[in-house]
Amino acid sequence: MKRITRREWMVKTGVAALGTGIVAPAQSAALQPTRSESPPRRVLRFAHLTDIHVQPERGAEAGMAAALRHAQSHPDPPAFILQGGDAIMDGLGVSLDRLRKQWACWHRVYAAECRLPVEHVLGNHDIFGWDRQKSKASGTEPEYGKRHALEQLGLDRSYRSFDRAGWHFVVLDSVHHDPSGVYTARLDDEQFEWLAADLAATDPSVPVIICSHIPIIAACAYFDGENEKTGNWVVPGRWIHIDARRIKDLFVRHPNVKIAVSGHIHLTDRVDYAGVTYLCNGAVSGNWWKGAYDQTPAGYALIDLYEGGGFARQYVDIGWQPVT
Ligand SMILES: [Zn+2]
Repeated sequence: MKRITRREWMVKTGVAALGTGIVAPAQSAALQPTRSESPPRRVLRFAHLTDIHVQPERGAEAGMAAALRHAQSHPDPPAFILQGGDAIMDGLGVSLDRLRKQWACWHRVYAAECRLPVEHVLGNHDIFGWDRQKSKASGTEPEYGKRHALEQLGLDRSYRSFDRAGWHFVVLDSVHHDPSGVYTARLDDEQFEWLAADLAATDPSVPVIICSHIPIIAACAYFDGENEKTGNWVVPGRWIHIDARRIKDLFVRHPNVKIAVSGHIHLTDRVDYAGVTYLCNGAVSGNWWKGAYDQTPAGYALIDLYEGGGFARQYVDIGWQPVT
């Protein structure tokens, strides 16, 4: 593991340009303190480790261990880990035997290295057998679909919400079964109604953070694959939420929704749209354990949340060198 210096960290994350180690927390006008008040207080730091994609090959177990050690060894450590989904390389199009091998890798590293509490998000590649051609799954296996992944991650349902440090966390399940194309990134009506009710039941003075595996809105999705090769931009409904419009419109009705974090694309970006900041937070596995993907190295995000709705995100390069 390569420990990065604070200076490297600042340069890599672009923070140096501001001349401080901390990005000024973004705030809505209604929540900004008056001049006589002291600056907002940081109430929580957590690490967002997404797209770990552990597998027996390419040193992925060592890479996962390095990322967990890195995240847990900061002098100012995170309080918990948000595991952003795609814990294993792939379950959609593999045999049961291959699926079990990957989860065995996961549990080995997780048990040995993870000391912090973890909140899990379900990713598309955690799901078993939906690519029926490749997996040869019949669909009647007890492991089929989301069930086995939820068991492996210790979850009793694929979406939920909870409160922490004065913030409301909403964990979404982005992955909708689409038998013709394996999956689509969207919430079904039941989950959307749940989300609407959950936000309606949240005190409007409590800031909200949305956690999804697949981005609701992202700019980096343009550069994932060759989406312009036809002469038009074509970003598939598996790359970003195809129902982004109704989710975005729902957020507009709840100005306390401040940020939405995601993974899936393995790239980092920040999109500010209609009052919400959407942060796509790279991948622990980088380019699926082959080094950096475009300009995003293997890494994770450190996220600071502030009283009153401010936040800061730093993407941390774990210095992973690919194993051949
Ligand atoms: Zn994914």
